Amino acid sequence: MRNDDAPLIRLEDYRPSNWLIDTVDLDISLHPQKTRVRALLALRANPAGEPGSPLVLDGDELALKALSIDGRPLDASAYEATPQALTIPNPPPHDFTLTIETELDPSANTKLMGLYRSSRVYCTQCEADGFRRITYFLDRPDVMSVYTVRLEAEKAEAPVLLSNGNLVAAGEIPGSGRHFAVWHDPHPKPAYLFALVGGALDHVRQDYVTADGHKVELAVYVEPGKAGRAGWALDSLVRCMRWDEQVFGRNYDLDVFNVVAVSDFNMGAMENKGLNIFNDKYVLADPQTATDGDYASIEAIIAHEYFHNWTGNRITCRDWFQLCLKEGLTVFRDQEFSSDERSRPVKRIADVRTLRSTQFSEDAGPLAHPVRPRAYKEINNFYTPTVYEKGAEVIRMLKVLIGDDAFRQGMDLYFERCDGTAATIEAFLACFAEASGQDLSDFARWYEQAGTPTIVASGRYDAAAKRYTLDLAQSTPPTPGQPEKQPVVLPIRFGLVGAKGDLPLKTASNAYAGDGLIVLDGACLSLGFEDVPEAPIPSLLRGFSAPARLELDLGDADLLRLFSSDSDSFNRWQALQSVATRALVTAGKPGADQKPLAATATALGEALDAFLKADGLTDPAFAAQVLRLPAPADIAREIGKDVDPEAIFAAHRSLSSAIGKALLGNMPGLSAALATSGPYRPDAASAGRRALRNELLGLAALCAPAKGADLCEEQFGAADNLTDRLAALAAMTLIPSERREVLIARFAEAYANEPLVLDKWLMAQALIPEPATLDRVKKLMQHPVFSLGNPNRVRALIGGFAANLTQFNRPDGEGYGFVSDIVIALDRTNPQVASRLLGSFKSWRMLEPRRQRFAREALSTVARMPNLSRDVADIAERALA
Ligand code: ZN
Repeated sequence: MRNDDAPLIRLEDYRPSNWLIDTVDLDISLHPQKTRVRALLALRANPAGEPGSPLVLDGDELALKALSIDGRPLDASAYEATPQALTIPNPPPHDFTLTIETELDPSANTKLMGLYRSSRVYCTQCEADGFRRITYFLDRPDVMSVYTVRLEAEKAEAPVLLSNGNLVAAGEIPGSGRHFAVWHDPHPKPAYLFALVGGALDHVRQDYVTADGHKVELAVYVEPGKAGRAGWALDSLVRCMRWDEQVFGRNYDLDVFNVVAVSDFNMGAMENKGLNIFNDKYVLADPQTATDGDYASIEAIIAHEYFHNWTGNRITCRDWFQLCLKEGLTVFRDQEFSSDERSRPVKRIADVRTLRSTQFSEDAGPLAHPVRPRAYKEINNFYTPTVYEKGAEVIRMLKVLIGDDAFRQGMDLYFERCDGTAATIEAFLACFAEASGQDLSDFARWYEQAGTPTIVASGRYDAAAKRYTLDLAQSTPPTPGQPEKQPVVLPIRFGLVGAKGDLPLKTASNAYAGDGLIVLDGACLSLGFEDVPEAPIPSLLRGFSAPARLELDLGDADLLRLFSSDSDSFNRWQALQSVATRALVTAGKPGADQKPLAATATALGEALDAFLKADGLTDPAFAAQVLRLPAPADIAREIGKDVDPEAIFAAHRSLSSAIGKALLGNMPGLSAALATSGPYRPDAASAGRRALRNELLGLAALCAPAKGADLCEEQFGAADNLTDRLAALAAMTLIPSERREVLIARFAEAYANEPLVLDKWLMAQALIPEPATLDRVKKLMQHPVFSLGNPNRVRALIGGFAANLTQFNRPDGEGYGFVSDIVIALDRTNPQVASRLLGSFKSWRMLEPRRQRFAREALSTVARMPNLSRDVADIAERALA
């Protein structure tokens, strides 16, 4: 279907389903090309629907083999079956059962939606609308059913057979070489949470007893031979289960919890009830094949999918417009878990980096949409940083606004009241309004209004009156379909910093005394503070208490003072980022005077050198974050229009190498002090030491290439873990030389049989900021490990290239042409991966005119292709609108 013809689905058009399905009995006989599915559905008219309606079930590329009602085959004149729908115009006027037989070819399913095969393992992906590729169904989240699933397969091919819920029967089918397993899930669930797995899999397992005394068998299933890499995921699972009991009072509710890792997966992982299916990248870990970053993301994603059991599964979404109800909340929960397991400030900094680079950029471009979209053509295109990351920020603000206790009470009320339902944002917010006694109707605007608000702040000190006045104003730029914006409710955590730390806060009204929170809920606000003994430096948006841009006219000297003395770690980090950002924004415009940048470089270099000498070993993870400048793409977004990526990149390089030079003398001593003895451990403290060392290594490579190359080779040879080896490779990629090519080759040899490690190798090369990279990437597409059929490979190599600011945005437009050609080719087999890749164009409108022209051409070429998927057509259309 062409996108122009695809219907726009609107939130305001939501109507309850006319029919309900109370139970689903599936009988699935697995076969690589001919899988038979028999579905027995217990249907009943929905009292909340239109009486006497026809029954229309969803399908997608389905082939109907047989159909009966209450056990009697249905006459061909009584129904119509197409690949997209099964219609029964005159269903019985009473409850009835419908038996549907379909036949599937899982081996031919390259979209990786519905039932497919990944390296000989049968698996499913049903969110958002993949279940309709298995059988005809009311494939919408507000239709919830109790599932019983019988799976049958050849025992040699699929000795392991898993589905949702608890195992109730299993056995051999004598003489056939086949066997079966029956799974029953007592919790009613929408079809998008259905899953099955069949294959020859190894596993690790552990018993777990919930706080309320329920015994659960936990297991992590992986491809044969990889059980040695499943331990960290299992360990993370146990820790997050305990945490959810302690922090949210949530216990697990089945006898079994299974996690399965597959190597072909469109997304990160999926929270199917009792049977989470994962991209293997987010399960497999050992020191040789996973980095510190991988260990951290495995822990976070295992937790995320587990936490969905309550926020997503027990309480699901009424419709897909409510996606943030489960995703924003669950991201918030996994962020909190990681903060408690690791360093809270460092986690916050990392999350804000991600928010700014992915979500702020989305909000600033043509694909901007509210946390709760009002309309969509293709729901798969709305699993976005806005729904996930901004959705989590909205929950975080809610907690700040109503306080920790009311937040917990609101959550308890939500779990109690909405358990077993398909809920809405309104139902969710009502719980917090009730628990806190606050009116949250203005706050709800965060769900409706797209765009990143800007807070403009300015302060004045009257020394004679000892009064400090803080003026705040907010505005949000127009976004597609939303030209006019209203003020949003902005919780601004703050302090007034004096020579010896925070000054006491006393306002004329006493309204803000002591609590350090300003709520800016109108267009502007002026606050007077009394008895202020000295001119303070305002520290605003502490902990990044609202997802906004802050414009505060502080000089570098004041920012450097905040860096050294703010009590809020986030704002210490932010202060240096602000100094660097301002300098790079100025110097990153074509033809800009570079002298001010040199002055900033000197100031930053001195501040960082002093900081590392004093504090580098106290909290290396924090120090690593401090050392990492805003990325060139962040500067591009701040500049916002007429962007010339080369100019930004050049300024960024020169600032980084100047800083590197300032630190050079201190580097060897610090690196030595940070070196860990003993075998690799993935804990946050050891990871922090590696992070700081490797940050220093990257700077050395930039400012002293010959010495840097020595260090990279040395570290590569000596390292006992992938983190350090990969960091050596990444630093070396910044040094154009024969030595770089040698190290690249050594890396490939060392990990020849490790596709997940080679992904990092592909990406490191795709990110090289040199014109030859495009040809290199084209060549790498011929490398034996690369395949357009595997989403991880595509994301690493092609996605990596599309994230290469200077090379994707080559001045000759070839970067766009290359990526758009791949989007077109990939769309024929995997539209979801293709459309995500096309999303790389989301910032094209901020570029200078010549690059814009090339980008528009590439997008238009995609848009003009016949037979585009709805996924890709929708992105192309919105990006061009
Ligand atoms: Zn999720």
